[in-house]
Amino acid sequence: MELKNPFALRSGVIITIADLTPNERGRNCKCICPECKGHFIAVMGKIRQPHFRHDGEPCDSVKALMTALYRLLSEAINERPCFAFPACYGLYYGIPVQRQATIEDVRAAVELMDNDFEDTELIIKAKTFGVEKYEIHRNTKGIPDAILLTDNVKHHQLAVSLVPPPTFCKISEPKPFQDIPTIAIHMGADFDLHHMKSDEVKIRLRDKADDKKWISSPAIEAWLLKNLARQHEYYEEHLAEEQTCKQALAKENAGREKIHAKAMLLQDEQQKADNAQITHLHQIMTEYRNRKQIEHPLSALQLASEELQKISQMLEAKYPIIPNEMVVDDVGRRWCFCDTCHCWKPDVFMASYGGIGDRVNRGLCSECSRKQS
Ligand SMILES: [Zn+2]
Ligand SMILES: [Zn+2]
Repeated sequence: MELKNPFALRSGVIITIADLTPNERGRNCKCICPECKGHFIAVMGKIRQPHFRHDGEPCDSVKALMTALYRLLSEAINERPCFAFPACYGLYYGIPVQRQATIEDVRAAVELMDNDFEDTELIIKAKTFGVEKYEIHRNTKGIPDAILLTDNVKHHQLAVSLVPPPTFCKISEPKPFQDIPTIAIHMGADFDLHHMKSDEVKIRLRDKADDKKWISSPAIEAWLLKNLARQHEYYEEHLAEEQTCKQALAKENAGREKIHAKAMLLQDEQQKADNAQITHLHQIMTEYRNRKQIEHPLSALQLASEELQKISQMLEAKYPIIPNEMVVDDVGRRWCFCDTCHCWKPDVFMASYGGIGDRVNRGLCSECSRKQS
């Protein structure tokens, strides 16, 4: 569908269809196409949107529209050599500190806006500057894509890209124009070009900042770099914090190990001391028992029969001939020889014993005495 061009060229200047009076309809408009210079017919019906159409073969309608728009802005600047640009505020959302950020990460985490909002930072102040000269730039298809304005003080350049209302035609989102600071003018649906007079459009494009948006600028780049540096600082802080945490943890663990080792050592020493104590007590007990045994030998009645038998056999071996002296064992217990059963027995087990010479050790044991009776 051919877009309904609201712009035409008359007497060397751009006008809009709204500039015409009702009796200038049709061929009476005396207008030509701003692009191909072909004759125009002003269509000013009540039902259809007023617009210009070629009185013959139409040319590229987008090219004609864009040519007219840029030319209208340049005429506005000819009339009053100035241009208003909006403020630029930046909002930085931040990036997780766990990794090193790149400028692309930062770029993806910011939003640029033309008014002050919570947490935004002012990057560029709104301003109207005097224009020294301008130049319209066309893309490879010959369609105008930017007007380069030079300010009359510092002779800096500013590129301005126009985006027509979406109801007219869709053009791609403006990109930074080379290395020059770039602004886009987004003409919203409220830019009713079919009913706005050319002066209204000119004032809005030149003097108002509302529809303008910063695309690029060294100030914005500097702000992005500042955020990148800030992000690096956060990352460094994060690394340092992580390091401190690790060290503290290692220290804590080392402390715990040390305490554990000490506890083990104490336990070991305690065990050794306990063992020594037990050994010592054991020795004392043994000594005590030995001494007690020497001082208070068990009576023969308290000895086990195996013990008695052992001593008996020992005495038998020691004395093949019964001696004349009293026989005692190692601990001083008296033993006698039973003439009946021919066994050595403790005196307490003898029924009778004693006499002169070797009779001192001889007698009759209780057992043999019982058997006889
Ligand atoms: Zn044309
Ligand atoms: Zn006997």
